[in-house]
Amino acid sequence: MPQVSKIYDPVKYKTPTGSRLNCKGWIQEAALRMLLNNLNPEVAEKPEELIVYGGRGKAVRNVDALDSIIRCLKTLEDDETLLIQSGKPVAVFKTHKDAPRVLISNSQLVPKWATWEHFDELEKKGLMRFGQMTAGSWIYIGSQGIVQGTYETYAAIADRHFGGSLKGTLHVTAGLGGMGGAQPLAITLNDGEALIAEAEEWRVDKRLTTKYLDEKWHDIDAAIQRAVDARKKGEAVSIGVVCNAVHLLERLCELNVIPDTLTDQTSAHDPLMGYWPHEISPEQAKVLREHDPRKYVEYATRSIYIHVQRMLELKEKGAITFDYGNNLRAMALEYEKNNPAGLFGFSPLARRSPDGKAGRLFPGFVPAYIRPLFCEGKGPFRWVALSGDPEDIAVTDEVVASLFPENRSLQRWLRLAKEKIQFQGLPARICWLGQGERELAGLAFNELVRCGKVKAPIVIGRDHLDTGSVASPNRETEDMPDGSDAVADWPILNALVNTAAGASWVSLHHGGGVGMGYSIHAGMVIVCDGSKEADERLKRVLRNDPGLGVIRHADAGYDLARQTMHKHQLGLPGNEQ
Ligand code: NAD
Repeated sequence: MPQVSKIYDPVKYKTPTGSRLNCKGWIQEAALRMLLNNLNPEVAEKPEELIVYGGRGKAVRNVDALDSIIRCLKTLEDDETLLIQSGKPVAVFKTHKDAPRVLISNSQLVPKWATWEHFDELEKKGLMRFGQMTAGSWIYIGSQGIVQGTYETYAAIADRHFGGSLKGTLHVTAGLGGMGGAQPLAITLNDGEALIAEAEEWRVDKRLTTKYLDEKWHDIDAAIQRAVDARKKGEAVSIGVVCNAVHLLERLCELNVIPDTLTDQTSAHDPLMGYWPHEISPEQAKVLREHDPRKYVEYATRSIYIHVQRMLELKEKGAITFDYGNNLRAMALEYEKNNPAGLFGFSPLARRSPDGKAGRLFPGFVPAYIRPLFCEGKGPFRWVALSGDPEDIAVTDEVVASLFPENRSLQRWLRLAKEKIQFQGLPARICWLGQGERELAGLAFNELVRCGKVKAPIVIGRDHLDTGSVASPNRETEDMPDGSDAVADWPILNALVNTAAGASWVSLHHGGGVGMGYSIHAGMVIVCDGSKEADERLKRVLRNDPGLGVIRHADAGYDLARQTMHKHQLGLPGNEQ
């Protein structure tokens, strides 16, 4: 179990706002504010355990480490770099002004040891923590961080399968956690109807309070009936049901109610801490997890297996079914491999996927809907107003809208975001921007800071789920045309080039999204402090960071990526690859 030596106190660790510095420079101050913002109870899922989102994705190792990082950031000079090893500060080294102020490595294990079992042993000894993606790289901004990505996915589904709108269609999924909580809003923003199972009532309540979800139900049959009626009326409504995902899918199968689409965003990547087994209640599960973690994992993986089987049953009846980046399919395949006798009357998954590839069961959302965006260097560009003033985000929204007047989907997104997205913690915005666009936005924000049109510097970052920063064969790099799904040189080059180009902090992680052994990925954050030096850093970092993603996809054989590469003169001199 995670060790927490001291207690997290939200008052003591309140995020500073305004234009007064607590550190010796704005980059250090940005790291301090973003770290504390990650843990802000409005933002984090379980701040008392230092868990930000994504199962057990933590911002720091423990409260002692948090205190020590805060102390270091407050005294860090403009030519020094703080090193963080899996959430614990270990050194300050002399570097130079253009170097990152913080370098972070999270949950790295030598490949033969890269399993949850080994990680759990290390975590128990206090030697490691799981950084997920943006939790461990201090750039999580609450559910908004994923909402536009989820919105884009459902918009692509609408275009591909439903003539451009989700009106009158029913979308079933599960999990209303930090990221999964974005699903209901992303679906209703596309005019569709969402029916979502969530095992923990407090999570449903949190999404109601933050206006990501419309309704809460306890009775599964009544919720299904409400969904059926709403589909008939073409009502864009999101319905949360307090129940286990397996139970909801069982009833849908029994009642022969076939959703138009079906996916899942429970934290199935982490069967011990992120997935509730369906045969026992969450209360019983908590006790079992504490006293017999091995048995808990047995229960959870059995449930995941049945969960996937039910999804396949609904898929066969016509539901467009896809994986939403939580490694559910691979966990089910692994369960069957380890328990060849326990098929529970279902036909073996091995028959559908003789080579053990998760994508043979149903596709992942990246190859199905997102990859063309990655080929243009598009990804989840986000920014945060360090002042804490929502007006600063309104100013940046206007600037972004004026920079890209021809981009209709971006214009629509900005209007919807302004109207529907409630800020959590420091005001922030997300916009999927591509190659060339990110540099323009970054320089424009730096100008706003320089002219005093915003009250304090702006921080720019991104999810690790981006074009060039992840190797994750069951997610971002599933089904690459040249078979390079598991090649992890790219995220490592990404972290190295962002460090060399002068990002403000850079992080390299293992296991985010899909769990131990399944991914390597890198994070990047850069601060617009209004200086001329920042202009130069922004130009380099915001070109190179997506640029490497374009090159990675061109190298894998995508024509669209090759065209983007040529258009933006990326790659080798003369664009020879
Ligand atoms: P989280 O841990 O904050 O939330 C998971 C939620 O699932 C919890 O609320 C939990 O109660 C619920 N849950 C678990 N088992 C359940 C079950 N059997 N039935 C019903 N509810 C159940 O995680 P999160 O941040 O929301 O992320 C969810 C998953 O999505 C993770 O695996 C994460 O890695 C992945 N992810 C996907 C994307 C993406 O873009 N698709 C991005 C980030 C993360």
